[in-house]
This record gives sequence, structure tokens and C-alpha cells, in this order.
Amino acid sequence: MNLRIIGRSSPYAGPGEAAIGYVVENEGGHIMLECGSGVVAKYLERYNLAELKGVIISHLHPDHAADLFPLGFALQHAVMQDLRKEPVALYLPPGGVDAFNTVLDCFGNLQRHYAQVFTYQEYGADREISIGDWKVYFNKVYHGVNCHGVVIEGNKGQRLGYTADTKMGSGLELFFQGVDLLLCEATVDSKEQAQNTNHLTPEEAGMLGSAAGVGHLVLTHFLPGTDGEMKRSLAARHFSGKLTVAEPDALYCIGER
Ligand SMILES: [Zn+2]
Repeated sequence: MNLRIIGRSSPYAGPGEAAIGYVVENEGGHIMLECGSGVVAKYLERYNLAELKGVIISHLHPDHAADLFPLGFALQHAVMQDLRKEPVALYLPPGGVDAFNTVLDCFGNLQRHYAQVFTYQEYGADREISIGDWKVYFNKVYHGVNCHGVVIEGNKGQRLGYTADTKMGSGLELFFQGVDLLLCEATVDSKEQAQNTNHLTPEEAGMLGSAAGVGHLVLTHFLPGTDGEMKRSLAARHFSGKLTVAEPDALYCIGER
């Protein structure tokens, strides 16, 4: 299976970029992981909504969820064009369905329209779900809102870990132990900022990658204009394995066991 970077920018999409969005794909289709501002237009450059098996949102901040609104309209359009018939399963954190519907109401009577293209499901930390061939596991993380890290396991045992947004703690090392690829936020520059904003520094990302023994560490979630090489070199002080800075449109193969 592969991981595609659609966008890595936060908290907003810089020029020519998208905010946070990823695709996990195999020969049978794909999952959208996060749907931040600007993601849908970038996603549609490469992907067909007919092959979309599910959408997973870690938390309801705009850099991770704002493009659910255009995604709903794009799905409606796909149905009108006979590209797909079935609604898409939208996986939200606990409490997310009511919150999303409340926001939809603010934009007029959109609940009815979106109910035709999405089936809503809330996941919990103790729940395993299946999407197509994939098994998906969740782990609650510390981000000041209801936010979950994710492990997605392919049908050959290959595993992708995704921290979402979090500060250190909450059993991250255990949850991501031995994953083939860890997509890890490395948002802020100092430990103080990390504590105050509930994010990770690149050094902490490197430490987490080492403690969890991950095969490939990919850093993401950057302010537009960030020096990615600087982030990489800081993380490399604590992680000696394969280390990459997420670039828009990059594709990473996730190892098979
Ligand atoms: Zn974020």
C-alpha cells in the first residue's frame, strides 16, 4: 500500500498548497485521511471519487476538516454523473457527528444534502474498524480537543502510523510500536511551544520514531514557508533510520512483511 501527501500545511494552505490531507491507496481503492482546506482540489487532480472507500478525520480543526464541505458537493456531483452510487463512510471523533451537523446548519439546510453522500460514524479509542481491505485502529492523543492518532494496517500486515496533532505522552510509543512508516507532526520549534500548543517539535518526533522503532519517519504539518531541511536535521539528532520531510504530491510505499 502507498501513502500520498496531498497537503502538509498548517494552520492554513500556503500559495499553491493544501492544508492537511493524505491518501492511503492500494489496488482496490483508497482512503482519504484528513480533509483540510484546499485538499479536495488537489485530491481531484489525481484521484477518482468512484474509488474513495472512506474518509477519516482525526479532529475537527479547519486545517484537518474544512474541505469536508467541498467534498460533500464533489460527491453530490459524482452521483449526478453516475461516477458512484454509494455514500462514503465518514469517520469522525466522538461527538463529531453532532458538531459537524451543527456547522452544516450554519450554512443553511445542508444536513439533508450531506446525509445523501456521507454515512457518519464515530470511532473510539477502543474500537477497530475495517475499510475495504484495511484495518484501522485509533488512539486518543493530547491536542486540547477530541483528537485521535491512527494506525492503518494493510492486508499483508504492513502498517502506517499517523500521529495527527498531539503533544508527547498518551502512549504514543506503544501505539506506534514497529509501524513500517510513521507520519508524524513536527509543527513547533521549542519544547515550550510544544507544551503550550499541544504539538511536537522535530526533536520529539525523532525521539518518538526511535522509541517506537519505526521503519520510516515522515515529518509533516508545517507552517507555509517552513525550512523542511532544518526540521529534518533536528529530528535526525534523535532518529538514525530513514527520515523524510513530507512534500506535497510525494508517494511513499509502505513495506510489506
Ligand atoms: Zn493541525
